[in-house]
Amino acid sequence: MVEQVRTTQQWQGLDRAHHMHPFTDSKALAARGTRVITHAEGVYIYDSEGNKILDGMAGLWCVAVGYGRRELIDAATKQMEVLPYYNSFFQSSTPTQIELAHRLSELTPAGVNHFFYANSGSEANDTIIRLVRYYWSLLGKPDKRTFIGRTYGYHGSTVAASSMGGMAPMHAQDKKLLPDFAHISHPHWYSLGGDLTREEFGLKAARELEAKILELGADNVAAFIGEPVQGAGGGIDPPSTYWPEIQRICRKYDVLVVADEVICGFGRTGNWFGSDTYQIQPDLMTMAKAMSSGYLPIAAVGIHDRIFNVIHESGGQIHHGYTYSGHPAACAVAIANLDILRKEEIVERVRTEIGPYFRSTLQEVADKHPLIGELRGAGLLAAFQLVKDRATRNIFAPEEDAAIRCREFALQNNLIMRPAGRQTMVLSPPLVITRAHVDEMADKAKRAFDETAKSFGLL
Ligand SMILES: *Cc1c(COP(=O)(O)O)cnc(C)c1O
Repeated sequence: MVEQVRTTQQWQGLDRAHHMHPFTDSKALAARGTRVITHAEGVYIYDSEGNKILDGMAGLWCVAVGYGRRELIDAATKQMEVLPYYNSFFQSSTPTQIELAHRLSELTPAGVNHFFYANSGSEANDTIIRLVRYYWSLLGKPDKRTFIGRTYGYHGSTVAASSMGGMAPMHAQDKKLLPDFAHISHPHWYSLGGDLTREEFGLKAARELEAKILELGADNVAAFIGEPVQGAGGGIDPPSTYWPEIQRICRKYDVLVVADEVICGFGRTGNWFGSDTYQIQPDLMTMAKAMSSGYLPIAAVGIHDRIFNVIHESGGQIHHGYTYSGHPAACAVAIANLDILRKEEIVERVRTEIGPYFRSTLQEVADKHPLIGELRGAGLLAAFQLVKDRATRNIFAPEEDAAIRCREFALQNNLIMRPAGRQTMVLSPPLVITRAHVDEMADKAKRAFDETAKSFGLL
């Protein structure tokens, strides 16, 4: 536990004075004061006021094996003692970089055998943009540059990654997207499906990709990028028909398939990757977050042989890389994290035991609640759609702030539950969560829904 050297008020004052927060209204935060998280254990975080809070979001979707894992702390410490840093630019490598790449190759879908390291999901997606454009130019098709993503897609917050994603407020802040990024609709049946069945809608949503490729010209389209399940966009799990049709269209027009596995990767959906759950055969994949359970920052791009070989055979240098690509300590933590996931059979447990229990327990809450239109998600990712009226699928307007209100009520009940996408509340807890924790989470979430519904006069 960190020694408490200042009072909450002192921390809040200094935070207000000097610390600018990501994705935060700093004026509103200054008015209320930041919550100072001082320590954590298992699936609970603790604040400087002594509140014990159930972390229903695993930090930011990343703390897969829970807080306070001695194996990860020891792995980082040991690596820092023997070699705290060395780069991989100068025809050199470090043992943990090599070992981790080897381990990843055993887990990723067939053919994805090469790994380029970055330090965040955003950087990894920027890497993908550069590698894919380079790949197409090596094949004599330099005009194949455009990436097609989706509305409510999230691929990170750098200049390129925010253009690649489909978050309207992020685009609005910059006024203009970078050139050569385009978007199709997110495959959310509840809000866009109308009278179609989920399966019919899945095909319709996927075929927007074909229309977009034809509009732009296949000779100009480099790749399609999508999260197997959209996370920050509101836990949108696509209909079963969606990904196979996307895959077919991409192959038909010679467009690469990029799976952004930053949230889905390493067990979240009950398989090692969302690509396994949704039968995606990615040409490239983005990995981060749960890769190290968030203990140290690390990310990777998984590259299929057929892409890597073109770059490899061309013989030229790639002009790309980061000082901390494959930081030895971060790699050591990632290896220890994979060891835990394997040894404790955590991914299997998500698929066969705790995932189904989580889903059925939350489904019971959702089915009975006037505020909840649908429960979405996969594995240990759940998304509650907040609605004014279930019968007409009437979702709250953004200015009604239903999700923000619900987040506050959840917090008052010592539960971290996060608004995401369009008036949706997401739960994505550590993968080591127990049935008792799930019961506690469901109970606290229900109370937050009750209080939110009451505040709108719906209960
Ligand atoms: C979080 C996230 C990213 C960005 O990762 P950072 O490490 O925050 O840069 C990219 N893609 C997806 C799907 C994410 O959820």
